Amino acid sequence: MERIDIELINKFEQLIKSSTKSIVIVPHTNPDGDAMGSVLGLWRVLGNAGYRVRVLSPTKYPEFYHWMDGHEQVTIYSHQHKTAARILEESDVLICMDFNQLSRLGKMQPLIETYQGKKILVDHHPYPGDFADLTISDTTFSSTAELIFAVLQPTEFAKHIDKNAATSFFTGIMTDTGSFDFNVSNPNTFETVAQLTRMGIDQLEIHANIYDNYSADRMKLMGFCLSNRMKVFPEYHAACMYISLEDQKAFNFTTGDNEGFVNMPLSIKGIVFSVLFTEKEKYVKASFRSKGEFAVNEVSEKYFNGGGHRNAAGGEYFASLEEALIQFENLLPEFEEKIKQSIKYK
Ligand code: 5GP
Ligand code: MN
Repeated sequence: MERIDIELINKFEQLIKSSTKSIVIVPHTNPDGDAMGSVLGLWRVLGNAGYRVRVLSPTKYPEFYHWMDGHEQVTIYSHQHKTAARILEESDVLICMDFNQLSRLGKMQPLIETYQGKKILVDHHPYPGDFADLTISDTTFSSTAELIFAVLQPTEFAKHIDKNAATSFFTGIMTDTGSFDFNVSNPNTFETVAQLTRMGIDQLEIHANIYDNYSADRMKLMGFCLSNRMKVFPEYHAACMYISLEDQKAFNFTTGDNEGFVNMPLSIKGIVFSVLFTEKEKYVKASFRSKGEFAVNEVSEKYFNGGGHRNAAGGEYFASLEEALIQFENLLPEFEEKIKQSIKYK
């Protein structure tokens, strides 16, 4: 049985072919590797197929993704309001990728809500919102990049997947699986990687571009946080870490410098639940990770205005950093039993 309903794929192809103006592809706010990987990969494929395509991101994304094919044509809404509005006006098809609710667009939400053309959603998060003319949503895919690659296969666009697009798709899969550490229980993920590899991608270079491209300040911040900003709760198999605005100043913090921090406590024996709080000017950004069955998106939804996947979720907490830390400590007893069910994975 095909994993994705062929009717949906046909409709996807038809909607794209119906475009007589241009197509805009949009990732979520603060895009990660999968958001940019799936968006830029599809941008390349549709561009190769002869369409006029632009990528519009609600906000900036980390510099270690700036090497990616198509980076130079990305419009950043938060910095280029007018260009963003113009690109949308000139287009007739909008493709939303790697998010399930329009609220994930942050301040760009109203602009997309009132969009006049056709909307397509391609995503792998649970609970997709009902805002698109076509929704292709499947949580059994490791990443949106893997999903869009599968969607493209039976279409006429498949022949336009070149090495550049394959590189972007691989970037999405690699980053959303933590370099094949989680979300990889489905063998199809590795089959997709095999197909991408045959297209001549250089996995070692892609990995190095992303994971060996940090500043010395970021490494020092990591060491500082591990020593001074991590608290372990062995009885709950949990750990938390935080980065205050003051810490960020001290280590010349830039977007993406905290990437991967939340995963580190999971390397501690017995720890299956980890959170990272990053203080922002007006709120606290929360990042959650777990090993095994324990669903951190439940925690994020219930207490931190967020969502995400079972093993990787995030949210925003509109109070002080201290209050976020207290909230976290207070919720641990409620989830104790569920956390304990995950220990078999350690
Ligand atoms: P990260 O911790 O890397 O920022 O986010 C992990 C995952 O959690 C993302 O892939 C996304 O699915 C989800 N996520 C992160 N932040 C938010 C948020 O503010 N709201 C929602 N609904 N999901 C989020
Ligand atoms: Mn994703």
